[in-house]
Amino acid sequence: MTVFVTGGAGFIGSHMIENLLSNGEQNIVNLDKMTYAGVYENILMFKDDPRVNFVKTDIGDVCNIHALLREWKPHLVLNFAAESHVDNSIEAPAAFIEGNTVATFNLLNSTLTYWRELPKTLQNKFRFLQVSTDEVFGSLDLNEQAFSESTAYSPNSPYSASKASADHFVRAFHHTFGLPTLITNCSNNYGPRQFPEKLIPIIIMNAITDSNIPIYGNGEQIRDWLHVKDHCSAIKTVLDKGQPGETYNVGGKCEKSNLEIAKTICSILDTLLPKSNGKSYAELITFVTDRPGHDTRYAIDARKIENELNWSPTTSFDDGMLETVDWYINHQDWVKSALN
Ligand code: NAD
Repeated sequence: MTVFVTGGAGFIGSHMIENLLSNGEQNIVNLDKMTYAGVYENILMFKDDPRVNFVKTDIGDVCNIHALLREWKPHLVLNFAAESHVDNSIEAPAAFIEGNTVATFNLLNSTLTYWRELPKTLQNKFRFLQVSTDEVFGSLDLNEQAFSESTAYSPNSPYSASKASADHFVRAFHHTFGLPTLITNCSNNYGPRQFPEKLIPIIIMNAITDSNIPIYGNGEQIRDWLHVKDHCSAIKTVLDKGQPGETYNVGGKCEKSNLEIAKTICSILDTLLPKSNGKSYAELITFVTDRPGHDTRYAIDARKIENELNWSPTTSFDDGMLETVDWYINHQDWVKSALN
């Protein structure tokens, strides 16, 4: 019984491999193209583990993926691989169509061919899970209800448009061909090993190095934060109990503005790593020109996964942020090698 994890050298994918191993999986194949966001240090911990195999490949490479599917015969394909940074999608959107939409379509198409060759009992057990984002739903005003599974897709950035498009193909492959697919739409993740281009690691690393902490616009943009391990436990729950063809929203009921996030991190650093001059790290917060088309608010209504599948997050924001800040303080070499 083999599990394919695509993008397993990235932030969430590497945590998912740990989750699967702790839940007894015996054979995992990590398929990662090793883009700038694929970090070898994230998979070093599995180097000597015979249960984890690493294959450097693009999920959009049809010939390679087809051969790998036939060779390893997975019963689960978990698709984390993606270009994941909104700012990059504004700089160079074409890479997101190629990397997120076309590549996912190719992976789906190869998977469909493989799945059709399986005996009926294995076809029924097979799952393709697409790891998606709440950003596909667009932006909420402050008083609007949180995104539910029936909220219409309304993506605003090239990143979210490319993810939304991929999700539509996943849905279509279930509806048209019967491929047993699942989609999870998760809110913003945080935790150890997040690539140092994202908000939380940037704030921590800039503060530690006494550089300005850049905050877009007025910092009032609200995101719903979830610890990466809770995201992975939600995915595991959906794999075990979710209904093929369904989508599940995943969130932490933890709405915070970007400015609140920056202030929280600065206050943790003031305690863990007090400045010799007695000043607060919060003095480094600097407002910079807003991101074009910046969404105001994301919020997730996670009642479906909570009520139907009995999942709920276990890491509090305070504990998770403390752990995360502490991890970056103690893993500055990881940050250096990730950026090299
Ligand atoms: P990441 O950027 O840290 O990692 C992405 C990984 O995918 C990298 O290892 C990269 O090398 C690999 N990759 C990219 N394109 C590939 C391709 N064509 N073939 C094979 N490998 C490829 O991203 P992340 O933050 O871990 O996000 C993982 C997934 O979760 C993405 O699909 C993202 O859209 C989704 N997601 C992320 C968040 C979040 O807050 N980070 C929230 C919800 C959903």
